[in-house]
Amino acid sequence: MLLDGKVAIVTGCASRRGIGWATARLFAQHGARVAMLDLNEDDARSAAAAIGDAHQGYACDVRDARRCEQVVAQIVETFGAVDILVNNAGVSQPNRLMDSTMDDYDLVLDVSLRGTFNMSRAITPHFRARRGGAIVCMGSLAAQRGGGVLGGPHYAAAKGAVQALAKAMARELAPDGIRANAIAPGLIDTELLIGKITDDGKAAVAASTPLGRLGTAQDVANVCLFLASDLSAYVTGVVLDVNGGYHIH
Ligand code: NAD
Repeated sequence: MLLDGKVAIVTGCASRRGIGWATARLFAQHGARVAMLDLNEDDARSAAAAIGDAHQGYACDVRDARRCEQVVAQIVETFGAVDILVNNAGVSQPNRLMDSTMDDYDLVLDVSLRGTFNMSRAITPHFRARRGGAIVCMGSLAAQRGGGVLGGPHYAAAKGAVQALAKAMARELAPDGIRANAIAPGLIDTELLIGKITDDGKAAVAASTPLGRLGTAQDVANVCLFLASDLSAYVTGVVLDVNGGYHIH
């Protein structure tokens, strides 16, 4: 098992069809104990219980730096140590430039970018002290092609910044034995899509995807496992595409 004895924190994993939950479940199947964070405590706890007794759910709005520090301290205390952080929480909006309010901007930027910044800062002293750790950040195809299907310009900008942050952390934290990487998923069939794309729209994306289908949460979780485990021991600062060939650069 790839994560035997490891402890992972995954943010944004209450949604059973989401990338975070699929990642937490896959990590658990590979021997990790997982601290699962989401906005609502009951939802986070029941998501963790659905995966097994060894896992815990915590309420944490990743936009709140103090709460991120508190919850990381609580997790270290409960689990003894942490090896992996997956910065998965994110909110997408399709609004175009002139239809986005400043509240939209704040929400989309803050959950993805500030959340990734907050959680990475909260865990870094612990990773440094242990001289090791893996950080996986959730970017997006939207960052690479200027938004499009699901993401407006604020979402594309947030995800571009997340990818840049992952690269900067990779460079800065490598001497401490800490790796940081990002994933750029294409269109993944999760609850994030609800109300943002029609079935015909999904079919059109599938038709123009070389591998002929939308992605699944499991497709992204599998790549998270690679980046979180020692399989990628010599990989840091990359943005890995998980898009079925929809965007090949
Ligand atoms: P999802 O909506 O199923 O899951 C997102 C989770 O994040 C939810 O459980 C939500 O409650 C949680 N969340 C929202 N705000 C939060 C906050 N402030 N603090 C903590 N948790 C919060 O979405 P998903 O499709 O599984 O997306 C997961 C990640 O992948 C996101 O960062 C998203 O932007 C990214 N992504 C998704 C797609 C896609 O097509 N689905 C494509 C590219 C990137």
